[in-house]
Amino acid sequence: MLPTDSALVLFSGGQDSTTCLAWALKHYARVETIGFDYGQRHAVELTVRPQLLASLRALDPAWDAKLGEDHMIDLSLISRISQTAMTHDIAIETQANGLPNTFVPGRNLLFMTVAATVAYRRGLTVLVGGMCETDFSGYPDCRDDTMKALQVALNLGMDTRTKLETPLMWRDKRQTWELAQELGGAALVDLIRAGTHTCYLGERGALHDWGYGCGACPACELRARGYRQFVNAGH
Ligand code: ZN
Repeated sequence: MLPTDSALVLFSGGQDSTTCLAWALKHYARVETIGFDYGQRHAVELTVRPQLLASLRALDPAWDAKLGEDHMIDLSLISRISQTAMTHDIAIETQANGLPNTFVPGRNLLFMTVAATVAYRRGLTVLVGGMCETDFSGYPDCRDDTMKALQVALNLGMDTRTKLETPLMWRDKRQTWELAQELGGAALVDLIRAGTHTCYLGERGALHDWGYGCGACPACELRARGYRQFVNAGH
């Protein structure tokens, strides 16, 4: 097996990372997953993860055979060293620097670095993340240039040839739904619609056509709009 045949997917339990996981299961012979508990105010994402992994296994026997270990990493230090609306009970708003206070500074840099460390131990040579510059809410650590620079830094610092893959980088939310459709048809779209969690407020009461969530926070708005565009395009 070629070393580039194995991937570690940053898998949070949201729409984007679940689509990335399906993408990796399509492209690589061996796939493992990594998730981070960083003291999120709403840990719904973390509770849906095991269900999603089981559902993906059930969807396709080939995916079941490829899917390996899931690594849950405690990164609660993030909530201790930063103060954001993701980890503390403060209202979501735009900060003086123009960034929303849902931005956790350094989070994706740390996630990728920790993932690279785990991948090094596990012999996995591709890291897959759902970073997206198209719908990135202004998060600078979702930019393509940030990920490319990080890939260089990680490989220099670890003397590796690890590749950072970001299949959603240039897709908007509608195109992310379309990618799910391509990868796993209506069954995968349904699984992502009802099984993943994106809402910043952790709301999981009623199932909307686009999935669960409060419907009003920036994450829900983006997800709902993308799903409606996807449906309106005839899917
Ligand atoms: Zn919401």
